[in-house]
Amino acid sequence: MRKFRIDTGESLKSGQCAVCFHKQRREINEALRAKVFLRVVAEQYGMSEAALSRHRKNHMSMSTNQQILERLREKLLVVCAAAEARVIDSDEPDDTVDKVFELIDDFRQEAIQALTLPW
Ligand SMILES: [Zn+2]
Repeated sequence: MRKFRIDTGESLKSGQCAVCFHKQRREINEALRAKVFLRVVAEQYGMSEAALSRHRKNHMSMSTNQQILERLREKLLVVCAAAEARVIDSDEPDDTVDKVFELIDDFRQEAIQALTLPW
């Protein structure tokens, strides 16, 4: 099965962002989302305003909605695969299995398309 991953951004991959690797990243992100002044966040978590600003611009640019959609797509694929496995394991006649597979496939394609934004 294909695996989908939430894109975490360039700097995180190369290990350069102090905020992304901060133990309290979640709290910091929450503060930034709540529009707490950078100076205040910087002081509270002991990092530079520049690092926070860079992090906010580069790593928080993916909207929460996009992340939700990514997770939904991932879950959708897992649920569909589980449903298919259930049908295969059942004692249903072949034509029923085929029909259910068709339904699942139609649904998956339509839902994936609906959940895919042109980013
Ligand atoms: Zn970051």
